[in-house]
Amino acid sequence: MNYSVLEKTLRHAQEWLAGLDKRPVGATESLETLRRKITSDLGSQGTDPSTVIEELVEATKHGHLGCASGRFFAWVIGGALPSALAADWLTSTWDQNAVLYSCAPAASVLEEIAGCWILEILDLPRESSFAFTTGCQMAHFTALSAARAAVLEDAGWDVYRDGLFGAPRIQVLASEQRHGSIDRALRHLGFGSKSVSTEDPREALKTESPKILILSAADINTGSFDAFEELIPLAKSARAWVHVDGAFGLFARVSRSKRHLTAGIEKADSWATDAHKWLNVPFDSGIAIIKDRTSHREAMTIGASYIEAESQARDQIDWTPEWSRRARGISVYAALRELGKNGVEELVDRSCRHCHTLVTEIAKFPGVEMLWEPKLNQGLVRFLDPQGDHDRRTVEVIAKINASGEAFFSSTSWKGKKAMRVSVVNWRTDDPDIKRTLAAVRTAIVQ
Ligand SMILES: *Cc1c(COP(=O)(O)O)cnc(C)c1O
Repeated sequence: MNYSVLEKTLRHAQEWLAGLDKRPVGATESLETLRRKITSDLGSQGTDPSTVIEELVEATKHGHLGCASGRFFAWVIGGALPSALAADWLTSTWDQNAVLYSCAPAASVLEEIAGCWILEILDLPRESSFAFTTGCQMAHFTALSAARAAVLEDAGWDVYRDGLFGAPRIQVLASEQRHGSIDRALRHLGFGSKSVSTEDPREALKTESPKILILSAADINTGSFDAFEELIPLAKSARAWVHVDGAFGLFARVSRSKRHLTAGIEKADSWATDAHKWLNVPFDSGIAIIKDRTSHREAMTIGASYIEAESQARDQIDWTPEWSRRARGISVYAALRELGKNGVEELVDRSCRHCHTLVTEIAKFPGVEMLWEPKLNQGLVRFLDPQGDHDRRTVEVIAKINASGEAFFSSTSWKGKKAMRVSVVNWRTDDPDIKRTLAAVRTAIVQ
């Protein structure tokens, strides 16, 4: 067998990474060109592996975003730490089916250890169970399916035996600002949009019905946290299940200076977070954490109604929604080892510091309004139009910055206003990146 294609691929990967500071951060190829360049005729004859890869690289080279670059601030997209990327390559090379210990012994143990480390750095109840999912979306799904069964059981209904038809109605309490992935997870679990109430939970928790309260750590636009210390005890006395969306914000817990923002969060029943955001593991990698491991296991295992004692080893099928699956926890293991506890804290603190500098310095330029001064790693600015059409001007300036290739931002709508969101979640972002980005923003404003 000839694996020379792997050596060529290594060189392509190195070139891609080395070029991040030189190439435009955005993709520059149009949809039509990408469609034209990417071979669409399968043909009957096969192609030599090296040719497949050479052509793949050549056809797509201007069609990738520089998400891995230190000057990418759009959405909330982390980079990939070197060891996490390398471990991801090995995960594909070993090609284990991490469904059962017997299919993938080392992967099972690596995920077991990585999960315990996650509980440790996030300082969540150590007895909790966890699952490595594709992302926070599926982590919500995993946790909320345990929540659904638990609150129904409390109301005398066995969802695993009797299903949802005819079950007591569950009320889901969540904020207007919630991430759309919560709605999708709920939809997969048989909830309709009418099940979700955005009423103040202080009032809504007073009514009699099974309830799930979904809290945010942190909101995608402003990085704001809900009042866990007040709301979780209220929810607990109303026998509600509390689930936390902590896709990136849960990592505030690793920082001594940001941790207070999450006070009381450890009293929740479940938490969903991502490794592919602030932990800088390659896509795709989310984590579900559930305090009551029995509820979690019942929700995911295939023997729900006659749970056996856990075997000695970790069988991931007991905890994850998938059957066959990638051992994505291996990259999490690698990232955590590369950083150590101090390194994770430094990554979080550094991201917050860079975000604060970016937003407050951009706000000093003429014609800029700061809409949100970062308290974590998210901030908002908008660009003011002399004619008063600030939304149009904001979109225009973002487009100019992105077209310069120097940095990349995305827009958002916040309180009825278009804004540029500044999100810093990449280990590579450093002081020179911030300087270069500020220069690019200034140029785009005066252009
Ligand atoms: C990114 C994000 C999600 C969705 O996470 P995925 O990993 O994309 O599934 C959910 N909530 C918040 C706050 C997010 O930032």
